[in-house]
Amino acid sequence: MTALDTPQPASAPESTPVVPNADPASVPVPARPFSRRTRPVGFFDLPLEQLEERIVALGGERYRAKQLWTWAYGKLVPGYDAMTNVPAALRDRLATDLPFGSMRLVREFMADDGETVKLLYQTVDGQFVETVLMLYPDRATVCVSCQVGCAVGCAFCATGLGGLTRNLTAGEIVQQTVDAARRAREMGRALTNLVMMGMGEPMQNYAETMAFIGIINDHQGLNFGARRITISTSGIVPRIDALAKEPYQVNLAVSLHAPNDELRSRLVPVNNRWPIAELLAACDRYIAATGRRISFEYALMSGINDSDEIAHELGRLLRGRLCHVNVIPFNPVEVLKFERPTTAGIDRFADILRAEGIPTTVRYSRGLDIAAACGQLRAKHEEEQAHLAEMSVAS
Ligand code: SAH
Ligand code: SF4
Repeated sequence: MTALDTPQPASAPESTPVVPNADPASVPVPARPFSRRTRPVGFFDLPLEQLEERIVALGGERYRAKQLWTWAYGKLVPGYDAMTNVPAALRDRLATDLPFGSMRLVREFMADDGETVKLLYQTVDGQFVETVLMLYPDRATVCVSCQVGCAVGCAFCATGLGGLTRNLTAGEIVQQTVDAARRAREMGRALTNLVMMGMGEPMQNYAETMAFIGIINDHQGLNFGARRITISTSGIVPRIDALAKEPYQVNLAVSLHAPNDELRSRLVPVNNRWPIAELLAACDRYIAATGRRISFEYALMSGINDSDEIAHELGRLLRGRLCHVNVIPFNPVEVLKFERPTTAGIDRFADILRAEGIPTTVRYSRGLDIAAACGQLRAKHEEEQAHLAEMSVAS
């Protein structure tokens, strides 16, 4: 029996809250997640033209929309109150009709000597969402979430454990980005890169993901360059083809994790639907259509997908493609039994790939001490909330 068959508890990493929730028990019990029909629309959901229309409908002048965008995306102010050249009456109307940043920050964690900041939000319907800001000497990267949970259910991923609760809206993803840009600025840095590698599968929330990219890419607003954005997917083939036709020059990362179908289907269940040959054919079409290099992500797990033989097999599989492999040493997840290989084992795997002619980098995860594997912070927080609720019932 392997770790794939029997998830077993492992020891939990310690977390270090620096902005503890003032009263965690006051957080409302999650309501019913809202649907496409019932979801509220907020400021960050709207492209500029739609904001203009909304403002005119509220009795304001069209040009106010650009003023609001300059405050929100240029000056990165945290709310309407700071927009001093906008009439107070309009700001009041907007605050009621078009909430600015619908998600509430409930916790903030720091790790890696302050170089990693993890934000935990609560949505208006009571869901928890994670965002991570990572500072490097030459860049500052935000890792955003695009869903609450995930329907794909990869065997090694904390996010997929409970299935999909709901898609995030474009506005909820924009808010994560703007807050991270503001936080980076407060630390004297500029946000330079964005990866969709938090909770969720962007290609299964495609419309909102594209709307999100359209908003942050707009040169009249945040002007976040598409080439600085990376979408990561578990391999939803029709959406890889769709992405190739989009006007945005974003980067694509494909979570491969195994060089053969037998192993990949056990790790990444969508492989049963789109096996490796189909996935790589879509990647080839994508490379041919865009001329852009693909990154293959490879979560390295001891005794699962890290043997020399598998490294050679992966090298043979990818040889000749315009690609790059990102080896991600497995990030421990509480209830899962997988283990990270030793540093020597990780280096050996990467060296074999390089010897096979595949450009390879090893990406050590940030914030291991704050449970930064995708979905872990949310899981931990929900557990704490449930525990608090139990205690209050018992008392
Ligand atoms: N759903 C998308 C993007 C989010 S996950 C996808 O799967 O690509 C971002 C990356 O983190 C993916 O490559 C995913 O496989 C990887 N990942 C998830 N859990 C991990 C863990 N515990 N350790 C290492 N990598 C992990
Ligand atoms: Fe979903 Fe990605 Fe996690 Fe797989 S690795 S369960 S696709 S978030």
